[in-house]
Amino acid sequence: MQTLIKNGHVIDPANQIDGSFDILINNRKIKAVVPRGKVPASKIEDAQVIDAKDCVVAPGFCDMHVHFREPGHEYKETIETGSLSAAAGGFSTVAVMPNTSPVNDNRSVTELILSQAKKIGLINVLPIGAITRGLKGEALSDMGELKESGCIGYSDDGKPVMDSELMRRALEYSRMFDLPCIQHSEILDLTQGGCMNEGIVSTELGLKGMPVEAEDIMVFRDICLLKKTGGRLHVAHISSGGAVDLVRHAKAKGLPVTCEVAPHHFTLTEEACRNYDTNAKMSPPLRTDKDIEMIKEGLRDGTIDMIATDHAPHDLADKQVEFSNACFGIVGLETALPLTLKLVDEKVITLQKAIDILTQQPCRVFNLDKGSLGVGKDADIVIFNPDTQYTIDPAKFKSRSKNSPYKGWKVRGKVLHTLVAGKTVYSAHSE
Ligand SMILES: [Zn+2]
Repeated sequence: MQTLIKNGHVIDPANQIDGSFDILINNRKIKAVVPRGKVPASKIEDAQVIDAKDCVVAPGFCDMHVHFREPGHEYKETIETGSLSAAAGGFSTVAVMPNTSPVNDNRSVTELILSQAKKIGLINVLPIGAITRGLKGEALSDMGELKESGCIGYSDDGKPVMDSELMRRALEYSRMFDLPCIQHSEILDLTQGGCMNEGIVSTELGLKGMPVEAEDIMVFRDICLLKKTGGRLHVAHISSGGAVDLVRHAKAKGLPVTCEVAPHHFTLTEEACRNYDTNAKMSPPLRTDKDIEMIKEGLRDGTIDMIATDHAPHDLADKQVEFSNACFGIVGLETALPLTLKLVDEKVITLQKAIDILTQQPCRVFNLDKGSLGVGKDADIVIFNPDTQYTIDPAKFKSRSKNSPYKGWKVRGKVLHTLVAGKTVYSAHSE
């Protein structure tokens, strides 16, 4: 079975391709990427044809930070509904955080996730294993076993590893397995009971704040440890301008630190909490205009390596409650592309760079053989029309949950097809 994607604007940063090309897929792999109209007719007689006129054709997006809630909280999201949500957002590969129930801190949970994802057969689902057993922050998980069974990194995400000695050992051990430790950077002593950024807005609303220093101090501590231990530190969902500066300095000194930013941290500020909308409740919290400015600078100069959504589906029962009691997080996979294209509109980054930080960069940091349209690679591809304008309607999300602060936002950039290993896993035409 062959597929020809023709008439598209191919952008593949991994191979420095940016122009009018046709792509031929054969037997799950990319067979050829050739200038438009140059695939010999004899080669494509039996090919299924996808017309990508007016569209960008790029490697499928890769999101290294999602929560699929299975096992344990399937009423919020399953691996299947999460995969459908990812595919609808143009993502062909995601890494799932271990804060499920049971926690993914051992081989049996990792294998369950992998076998479930394989059975569903939509997108590539890569597990991240816990740094500490049960995410309790007391004893290290068996990092070797987790890698052996298929984990691509370690994290206690949702919680930080507070104990410095434990984090030091996590970095040391992870070095042996050459996988990154992904830190949810938050000093809990400073954020206890907090539900939004600490500042004038939290004071006015009478809500307990989480000071930005809680993030900065943890990033600083981990960078200090890294100097001693080696290993690789990846800072999850950076939200503080000060933390971006810290990462920039550490990188300049040659330390193996990387970081990611979620779209809500460059599109929304603490002002979004004003009407007590629980869809604006995140961890780390939405910060200030100044932080967004510094995040954009970090995207511009490459301090921030990638965009990751922190896709965190919650059902109504966990969101339609008092602000202080609501769960943290939002559905992220289906709004990531249009929100990233806002950075292009604002001339923060180019379209090429936007695709780079959604494809090649995450794969570089996590050592994945993905995010490229090179000949012989898996045919994981997204086709989107960058100019289609529409209004975001969470009711239409494929995700099982609808918690999004972007309802009613007018955006551009619509995914039309997502292919994984040559198979169409999402098509807007079949809606
Ligand atoms: Zn987190």
